[in-house]
Amino acid sequence: MSKGKISLIGIGPGAVEHMTQRARDAIKEADTVIGYVTYIQLVADLVEGKEIIKKSMTEEIDRAIAALDRAQLGCKVALISSGDAGVYGMAGPTYEVLFQAGWTPDSDIEVEVVPGASALNTCAALVGAPLTHDFCSISLSDLLTPWPAIARRVDAAGYADFVIALYNPKSGRRTRQIVEAQRLLLRHRKADTPVAIVKSAYRPMQRIEFTTLDKMAECDIGMLSTVIIGNSCTFVREGKMVTPRGYANKYGAGGETHSGEKAGHSLSTGLNGWLKEIAASGESAEVLAGRYGLPAAYLEELLNSSDAAPVDG
Ligand code: SAH
Repeated sequence: MSKGKISLIGIGPGAVEHMTQRARDAIKEADTVIGYVTYIQLVADLVEGKEIIKKSMTEEIDRAIAALDRAQLGCKVALISSGDAGVYGMAGPTYEVLFQAGWTPDSDIEVEVVPGASALNTCAALVGAPLTHDFCSISLSDLLTPWPAIARRVDAAGYADFVIALYNPKSGRRTRQIVEAQRLLLRHRKADTPVAIVKSAYRPMQRIEFTTLDKMAECDIGMLSTVIIGNSCTFVREGKMVTPRGYANKYGAGGETHSGEKAGHSLSTGLNGWLKEIAASGESAEVLAGRYGLPAAYLEELLNSSDAAPVDG
């Protein structure tokens, strides 16, 4: 009996040109293809003559179990995800099912994860360069994650000034989540913070809309949309949403950002320069905590560590 294989394949946003060569080859190598109908249709030319198991959106675990069952019989199974299979995709549930069945990497089933361009990559490319500084993705789907956990992440990302890509922002039944995300973010960010909404990137129904944080929730957002929310430096110019590579341009002469970071010294010397600066200032952890928005206990520890000993010059 030949060795079974499960390939977890990310096919990118949908257009054939944006699928990797490895994704195409891995689909060709398979004898069984499992996936959501829309995604299988996107690779129709590659799946002829293969066993096709079409599953609906809500049956992730069933898909993983079906893949395992076939692979145990020696089949080469391709599990197809849009974007990247490891980003809110089939890779996680599949490993969970495999481990539950006692699978190890040297067992009879080979597993390959084939990376693909995720929605945040493809949507960012369409709107400009919004992810050029630190960003995070948050899924607003509360089907498998309790809402308070999602809200905490939205709040923390807002506080920490991440650019945010919202996956699963809204559906027919989940309409309130985007409104609550907006409410949380407006506590940290200006009303005119740029927001881009990309629907069906690189698919025939592609639609791009630019708006601002205060109007975001009123826009046309659905299951096939990704919402990109800028940080405090993101701007829109000539129809392109851009996040500067660093914070340097935020500083006027001697100016400070909301995070209390000073231009000049600390920017050019980074962590070490800042450490020397706070150690030399002689200020208390509480005062520094207020200025930098960092936990006082952390600053206390830092000031007591040997690295922060004041140095001459
Ligand atoms: N594995 C996928 C994400 C699946 S979760 C990936 O890596 O992209 C489903 C969510 O992904 C959608 O609700 C939407 O927010 C986003 N998404 C997937 N394909 C998209 C596309 N072509 N255009 C815009 N958003 C997309």
